[in-house]
Amino acid sequence: MKALEEKIKKEGIVKKGNVLKVDSFLNHQIDVSFLDKMGDEFQRLFQEHKINKILTIEASGIGIAVMTARHFGDVPVVFAKKSKTSNISDDLYHTRVDSYTHQKTNDVVVSKQYLNKNDHILIIDDFLANGCAILGLIDLVKQAGGTVEGIGIVIEKGYQAGGRKIREAGYHLESLAIIDSMDDECGQITFRQV
Ligand code: 5GP
Repeated sequence: MKALEEKIKKEGIVKKGNVLKVDSFLNHQIDVSFLDKMGDEFQRLFQEHKINKILTIEASGIGIAVMTARHFGDVPVVFAKKSKTSNISDDLYHTRVDSYTHQKTNDVVVSKQYLNKNDHILIIDDFLANGCAILGLIDLVKQAGGTVEGIGIVIEKGYQAGGRKIREAGYHLESLAIIDSMDDECGQITFRQV
């Protein structure tokens, strides 16, 4: 999505540790009309799928998931929670997710009430790096017996392994921008031409 690449170039900040900050429109302040455009684009990319629910992970996936849901006829959005305890409960699906930005492992949970075998899920997240967050969300859908119809990512860091793993596993993955390289010294970002 050209407009997204332009926005990242203008507003994104490349941090040490291979982290891109896009706090001005996605991760801290939210540019609602821009997220609405991205939601519209996800609808176009996944229009052949029958989707009845969107799944994301707190916190930064929620905004884009909600805007995307508007374009799929107001389907519900479920966000997986990073639980503070690892208590096993019968009412929750659990999975373990290594956090890329916080370098810790989270026990991630969704209530069994909100995911089930009839669900046809579009998974949405802000970033794709090594794929831990998305693989965790796929695991939650599988535990519920639901179907992953597709995976929509705002920014994929294409030089990390996540995208390859998920495509090789056969999932329909669409990223609105794919970064091929970024340099924290000069702030240069190169996008994959698709
Ligand atoms: P993964 O699990 O694919 O390794 O990393 C994806 C998750 O880590 C996303 O949910 C996102 O919150 C966070 N993340 C990974 N890389 C970046 C980055 O460069 N910038 C920001 N803001 N978040 C990132």
